[in-house]
Amino acid sequence: MSNKFKVRAYCSSRACEYVHPDDVMVAINYETAYSLAHYYNESPSKPSCPRCGEAIAFYAHAIIEEPWFN
Ligand SMILES: [Zn+2]
Repeated sequence: MSNKFKVRAYCSSRACEYVHPDDVMVAINYETAYSLAHYYNESPSKPSCPRCGEAIAFYAHAIIEEPWFN
């Protein structure tokens, strides 16, 4: 079993449920994913939501793989 740590992009608007379908980044550990998400959130060239135009927010995710579910 191996865990994965990813950065994903979501719309920051509560009224909108847009989630970017692709992982932004796969990191080696949670600390890296978290600091990358923070770095992207601080970026002046943050993308805007293609659905509503609000700012995109980045979050770190830990994906715990459970192979017996496959
Ligand atoms: Zn949106």
